[in-house]
Amino acid sequence: MKKALFLDRDGIINKRIIGGYVRSPLEFELLPDVVPILLSARQRGYLLILITNQQGVGKGLMTTSDLDVVHEFMQSELAAHGLRLDVIYVCTDLATSNSPRRKPAPGMLLEAIAENNLDAAQCWFLGDSLTDAQAGKAAGVRTALVGDFSAKDADIIAPTLALILGTSAL
Ligand SMILES: [Mg+2]
Repeated sequence: MKKALFLDRDGIINKRIIGGYVRSPLEFELLPDVVPILLSARQRGYLLILITNQQGVGKGLMTTSDLDVVHEFMQSELAAHGLRLDVIYVCTDLATSNSPRRKPAPGMLLEAIAENNLDAAQCWFLGDSLTDAQAGKAAGVRTALVGDFSAKDADIIAPTLALILGTSAL
C-alpha cells in the first residue's frame, strides 16, 4: 500500500482570498513556504493529493472549466520547482448541501484512499481550517494544521507553514 500527503488548497498551496474564490490564474498566488514541504514529502515517498472544497462553482461564480484552468496554472507553478500534485479531488457542492464529499465530511479522502490504494494510517492531511482536521480524523489519517489552533484540534499544529516541516515526520 502507498501513503499520501493530502493537501488543502487555499491557505496551504496558494494564498487564500478571504471571502472570495480564486477564479483565474491571475488570482492564484503560490505560497513559497509549501514548496519545501512538498519536496520533503515527495522524497519520503508520499503521493501528493489535493483535497479542496470549491463551492464558488456550486454558487455559479465560476465554472468547472475555470477551476481546471486554475489547477493547470497551479501545476505549472509547482512544475517550476520540480513538483506536481499526483491527484486532485474537488468538491464543488454548496456548504448547505450536506454533501458527504464536502469537508468536514471525509468523502473526498475516503475516495482518494480507495482509488489510490493508500494506507490511511500512514497518510497525513495538511490544512489551515478546523474542517480539514475534522475530515482527516473522520477518514483515519493523521492531521496537521497551520494557524492558531488548540492542541486537541490536530496531531500537529504550527503557527506558519514554514514551521510545519520542523514539527513532524512529514
Ligand atoms: Mg484552506
